[in-house]
Amino acid sequence: MFCYDALCHFEANIKPNKLTVITTTNLDDTPKLATLRNQCPKAKIGFGIHPWFVQNNSIEELKPLITEYKPDFIGEIGLDYLRPEAKLQQQVFTTQLNLAMEFNLPVIIHSIRAYNDVLKILKTYNIHGIIHGFNSNDVIAKEFTKLGFLLGIGNNISKNSKITQSIQDIGINNLVFESDAPFSSWFNKKVSISDDTFLYAQMVAKKLDINLIDLIEYSNSNLQNLFN
Ligand SMILES: [Zn+2]
Repeated sequence: MFCYDALCHFEANIKPNKLTVITTTNLDDTPKLATLRNQCPKAKIGFGIHPWFVQNNSIEELKPLITEYKPDFIGEIGLDYLRPEAKLQQQVFTTQLNLAMEFNLPVIIHSIRAYNDVLKILKTYNIHGIIHGFNSNDVIAKEFTKLGFLLGIGNNISKNSKITQSIQDIGINNLVFESDAPFSSWFNKKVSISDDTFLYAQMVAKKLDINLIDLIEYSNSNLQNLFN
């Protein structure tokens, strides 16, 4: 059984045989991503201006790329308060949320030390998507799921992290598994691969004491429904 991947990067260089959400932070890669989707219909592709790169990209570039390459989502977008330019990040984030509304696309959100501000902003939009690498408590989790967001569970579940505590209180209707390949590995592995999602599902099934296959069926259909 395949455990779908709710986020990996173009750099992972995969040709997916299961539903796989693939992003790039490099807008020059968008034509190649579109080609990949033509070859692998199970790939869902998206791009956006990542909060780490707000200074290198102009928001004007984005709309023509969306029109031409018709992504399945916009992302990663969001706020990262470990990085500079908070004000500029907020501007670029909200402009991209407006584009997502205009093109009726879900979004994948990168949020580091910024959950409260991301929530405040998302509450003013009627928009859906995934909170990538979710790692916070059950109160924040509930706020996002009330808005209709899915929570992406990745390598943090293999560590001593907030999500290992709050996972008990997050309903399995709200979960998807993500590898973040090739960047976020688990334990001492050098790189992550898309199929690491299966390991994260195993870890969560064990913590929740539920059947692994049931859990994967839920998370797979949660992800599938986002793109229907
Ligand atoms: Zn990220």
